[in-house]
Amino acid sequence: MRVLVIGSGIGGAATAWHLAGRGVEVVVADAARPGTATEAGAGIVSPWTSRWDDALYPLASAAGRYYRELTTELAESSFEVVGGMIVSADDAELAEAHERLTARAADAPEAGEVRRLDPAQARELFPALAPELGAVHLSGAGRVDGHQLRRALLRDAERRGVTFVEGEVAFRADGTVASPDGPLEADSIVVAAGAWSRELLAPLGIDLPVTPHRGQISHFDLPGTDTAAWPVVLPRTSHYLLAFAGGRVVAGATREAESGFDYRVTAAGQREVLDNALTVAPGLADATLAETRVGFRPGTPDGLPILGSIRPGLAVSTGFGPGGLTNAPFAGKLVAAVALGEDPGFDLTPFAPDRF
Ligand SMILES: Cc1cc2nc3c(=O)[nH]c(=O)nc-3n(C[C@H](O)[C@H](O)[C@H](O)COP(=O)(O)OP(=O)(O)OC[C@H]3O[C@@H](n4cnc5c(N)ncnc54)[C@H](O)[C@@H]3O)c2cc1C
Repeated sequence: MRVLVIGSGIGGAATAWHLAGRGVEVVVADAARPGTATEAGAGIVSPWTSRWDDALYPLASAAGRYYRELTTELAESSFEVVGGMIVSADDAELAEAHERLTARAADAPEAGEVRRLDPAQARELFPALAPELGAVHLSGAGRVDGHQLRRALLRDAERRGVTFVEGEVAFRADGTVASPDGPLEADSIVVAAGAWSRELLAPLGIDLPVTPHRGQISHFDLPGTDTAAWPVVLPRTSHYLLAFAGGRVVAGATREAESGFDYRVTAAGQREVLDNALTVAPGLADATLAETRVGFRPGTPDGLPILGSIRPGLAVSTGFGPGGLTNAPFAGKLVAAVALGEDPGFDLTPFAPDRF
């Protein structure tokens, strides 16, 4: 059996890697579009601290658990458990967060321990933090470098025999696929083209309501500071901070559902990111602003991913919105099973492509 995967962001890379692990012949095509979400993504893997709802949380929680399995199978996944802190100056907010996390952690051992930290304890873990912020710390929260994880999946997929087509592919109305290397033939096709999935499927008369939600996200450098063990910081807004080794701190991100494919860092976007970052972590004021990345999250009307079969021989793995670095490695396993005509062993009903 030959499967064509269109798109090699985290969604396509994971699906192709799982398929190749099953011994299937796989071709991956990617156009290397600017604004690929996986290359811009912050890399927080902490479904337990999220406000994801009842439909998404079971998938996300399973995906968080799955990361532990993935790291044993994939060297250089870059996933690391560094812990995470919900931060606030409001005791009632922290009490609510503590209660919610304790309930979630009871059903998810990999979420780790939940504990309250006073402001001094919180600043010991993340020294740039504002002095008035207390925290609820969750020891099992993690981070991943999306760029590295994607590369690791694709390298290992290649070792497993996957081949690659570089450049734009397009469906024709008759269902055939055009590419720079000529027509691509496959028994089964998985569309994992992120925010571009809608335009890709349009020639087939399929309207999948995936739209680009722009995220602008800034990277800071703190030369000479050991940031490797700094936890993820989650204020009660949609903004956040996380760190990587080598003095790198990442501050995200705007959520712009009406941006279209506008690949620019805007003045207002930059101000929003900096204002939020420096309010939560004034200790970053003297950091070097190294770069601001732009990525298009694949958004859906109900905020849920789109996973499953559209029709025989055509499946989809997209719509990951703000959670694809967390959810796509596990979703790739499920969609690989769907592409092979198997029961994925997980209820994909909430994510069915025909629900719209
Ligand atoms: C600023 C920001 C911060 C984020 N932070 C987090 C986070 O902390 N945690 C988390 O879990 N998630 C996070 N996310 C979300 C996550 O990054 C995305 O959900 C995920 O990367 C989407 O992956 P994807 O593979 O579906 O899409 P993409 O990564 O966008 O990949 C789509 C691919 O399809 C290719 N393609 C498109 N059209 C074609 C075509 N016609 N032919 C060939 N190839 C094509 C593109 O070139 C691209 O490589 C963040 C996203 C952003 C933007």
